[in-house]
Amino acid sequence: MNTPIYNFSAGPAVLPESVLRTAQSEMFDYNGTGFSVMTMSHRSDVFMSILYHAEQDLRQLLDIPDNYKVLFLQGGASAQFNMVVMNFANGFKRVDSVVTGNWSAIAHKQMGKLSDAAIHLAADGKANGYTDLPPVASWDISPDSAFVHFVINETVHGLQYREVPKLADGMPPLVCDMSSEILSRRINVRDFGVIYAGAQKNIGPSGATIVIIREDLLDRCSDRIPDVWNYRSHVNKQGMYNTPATYPIYIAGLVFRWLQSQGGVAQMETINTLKAKTLYDAIDGSGGFYRNPVQADARSKMNVIFSTGNAELDERFAQESTTRGLQLLRGYKSMGGMRASIYNAMPLQGVEALTEFMREFQNRYG
Ligand SMILES: *Cc1c(COP(=O)(O)O)cnc(C)c1O
Repeated sequence: MNTPIYNFSAGPAVLPESVLRTAQSEMFDYNGTGFSVMTMSHRSDVFMSILYHAEQDLRQLLDIPDNYKVLFLQGGASAQFNMVVMNFANGFKRVDSVVTGNWSAIAHKQMGKLSDAAIHLAADGKANGYTDLPPVASWDISPDSAFVHFVINETVHGLQYREVPKLADGMPPLVCDMSSEILSRRINVRDFGVIYAGAQKNIGPSGATIVIIREDLLDRCSDRIPDVWNYRSHVNKQGMYNTPATYPIYIAGLVFRWLQSQGGVAQMETINTLKAKTLYDAIDGSGGFYRNPVQADARSKMNVIFSTGNAELDERFAQESTTRGLQLLRGYKSMGGMRASIYNAMPLQGVEALTEFMREFQNRYG
């Protein structure tokens, strides 16, 4: 019998097997067209329909209100760090930026480039080594700022705002990097001005970036911004200003349909909560053999970091787990230890196989 393979990669990450099988069966001939989706014009009726349905299904899954636009852009989440400033800080003196870990720190640094607005550090979790999250009430934000930028799930440090942040009335719009948790739990899109997410964590292959924008913010986009970086140009051309990442969008569309067949985001939230609890219980129940440094109420349900506190033993864990079909558990390069990314497409059985291996490994080396 073959050992099943469970892929714990942080991104590009695991995709539902049924999605990959569908893509395989349609690889040479999509829906009787005689073409692969990869080789057809983005302006063909067939692809326009794929894009339309992907957007509609995403709208259904996240309950996106009509006054929000949805774009599938390129350049990854990293390009959004600057695009949000170029487009939405125009005419403003200040942008508020919350730093809670690796990705928001990079965003903070990059946002200041080519910007006339000052990037104000509204909160910083660095003092505690990014093991806890500054409460939203402690963010130093101003009603006059262009927007407040934050990362809701820190993929590297394994932190997540367990309660979805919501700002008081009169505060600037929230701009949220949701790359590593989008579609993993219910959110209220109305609480955000902008949500963006690179596809390769919880949606599909790399190459497509989802951007959800509250319509009124588009009035801020200046014509001086080159069209390719201008949200309004993309919206005005129905996402077809230039060639979008057609194949990744097609796969994302298949993932959206898979999510619907699984019961949607609410059902994902239930399963994701159970998966995370299973894994954190195994860490906390190991009598200190495995450790996770994150404060309990800031622990990510998507990226679970843990270590034995011994770099050699961690390396042994990473190697031996691989031979048992538990793949890509090595932590982020600067972090060491292990990281299990347990996105939507990771089944509960994968997490159970991991915790079983953890117990067995501890029995041998603990
Ligand atoms: C992976 C990741 C990014 C970077 O995404 P790219 O698509 O590689 O630019 C940014 N933010 C978060 C939260 C991420 O997890």
